[in-house]
Amino acid sequence: MAGKFRLKVVAPDGLVLDKDVEFVLVRSEDGDLGILARHTPLLASLEIGVVRYRENGKEHKIAVSGGFLEVADNKVTILANTAETAEQIDVPRAQAAKERAEKRLQERKPGTDIQRAEIALKKALARLKAAQ
Ligand code: ATP
Repeated sequence: MAGKFRLKVVAPDGLVLDKDVEFVLVRSEDGDLGILARHTPLLASLEIGVVRYRENGKEHKIAVSGGFLEVADNKVTILANTAETAEQIDVPRAQAAKERAEKRLQERKPGTDIQRAEIALKKALARLKAAQ
């Protein structure tokens, strides 16, 4: 059986997850990063996206909008700007955010903050993917 390690996900309003897991997959600024037990110490910046983890052989997803990941002492800590488990995601809200951002990016009205709309779109897509 695969070795286990602790996965902790913290967002500004508190602890989102604290579990013993077998595998974690994140999208870091340097690419996808898969972590197994006894990984070497590491610090990485996270992209907006989906964090996947395996617990008792079952895969779960969390949406994160960027942050940091630390691996130390057989423990993974994710400090996220925002983080929601699949169960916590309000799908209609994420769908509405996606449509709002897409509309802004299509129309490109003067004064539209394109970068902000692109970030909003990425966050909404990550939430929809994690909720699936
Ligand atoms: P919206 O435009 O729908 O408000 P947003 O991307 O601007 O979304 P954030 O600023 O990223 O929202 O997050 C604000 C808070 O709301 C955070 O605590 C985040 O976890 C939560 N949140 C945002 N969208 C959702 C969602 N679809 N389901 C559950 N929680 C959400």
